[in-house]
Amino acid sequence: MSVDFDLDSSTLNYAVFGNPVEHSKSPQIHSLFAEQAGINLVYQAIEVPENNFQDYLDSFFIQSGKGLNVTVPFKEEAYSICDVLTERAEQAASVNTIWMNNNQIYGDTTDGQGLINDLKNNHQLNLNGKQILVLGAGGSVKAILPPLVQQNPAQIVIANRTIDRAERLVEKFSGNTSIEAVSYNNLSENKFDVLINGTSLSLAGKLPPIPNNILKEHACCYDLMYSSEPTVFMRWAKEQGAAKILDGLGMLVEQAAEGFFIWHGVKPETAPVLNALRT
Ligand code: NDP
Repeated sequence: MSVDFDLDSSTLNYAVFGNPVEHSKSPQIHSLFAEQAGINLVYQAIEVPENNFQDYLDSFFIQSGKGLNVTVPFKEEAYSICDVLTERAEQAASVNTIWMNNNQIYGDTTDGQGLINDLKNNHQLNLNGKQILVLGAGGSVKAILPPLVQQNPAQIVIANRTIDRAERLVEKFSGNTSIEAVSYNNLSENKFDVLINGTSLSLAGKLPPIPNNILKEHACCYDLMYSSEPTVFMRWAKEQGAAKILDGLGMLVEQAAEGFFIWHGVKPETAPVLNALRT
């Protein structure tokens, strides 16, 4: 099936494919980056029907599309379609950034690096030697684990409702770093410097079943989800006395900056874009 995007071939065309996608901030982020870099481009959010991802992707590139971002629920399908994958996309089995080169589809995942850049560069958080608790074992956790491991934390504990999924991640990613899978019931035995909520529960306004008193002094709590109001997890973190409480907007902007660099060879300034989105 061919899809007509009505692209203007005299400009550079980019898009994010997702479903739903109308609330995506990627068009705004990439437009602000492009303005900074003096690049003239069009970036659209395109809702793709669940079974038509490949047709949409093929049609977009045939019609002079230059690059695609991929969001829920297509990151794994994008991974399976790409001809050439970066090492981190291969590890995460997930793709959020696509481009064409010599008639081949290239795929990368910038989500994990986006989180690390946000923590390190925007919030001066050094993960070296830290005890990290990751909640959830879904797609985003798979993408953030390899770059988290590279930061040399003392330990990463993954808590997930379906413990097998967490155990599979442990098998895949443990090397020099100690990674452990636990059920939520067994969490009260440790205290952590950094908590990362990678469950989708914030979307439903719910808190993962975590016990109180598991934060060390000066702990940082990070919710991958972002919204205009603090999430339930962020409110819980405040009650527990966390020193830093962050949402995933910084990660979103930073992952987009990584993608912008892949497509245009220019590293954009993220701080003004984050400020623009926050206001
Ligand atoms: P997935 O659907 O892949 O994973 C969902 C996770 O949440 C699983 O671990 C699942 O556990 C857990 N979960 C769902 N419902 C429950 C429940 N009732 N009780 C306990 N655990 C539950 O989602 P993603 O990894 O793609 O996304 C997770 C979050 O990350 C979302 O909030 C998303 O918005 C955010 N995100 C933010 C990004 C950013 O740039 N800021 C980028 C990507 C994602 P189980 O395995 O047991 O089903």
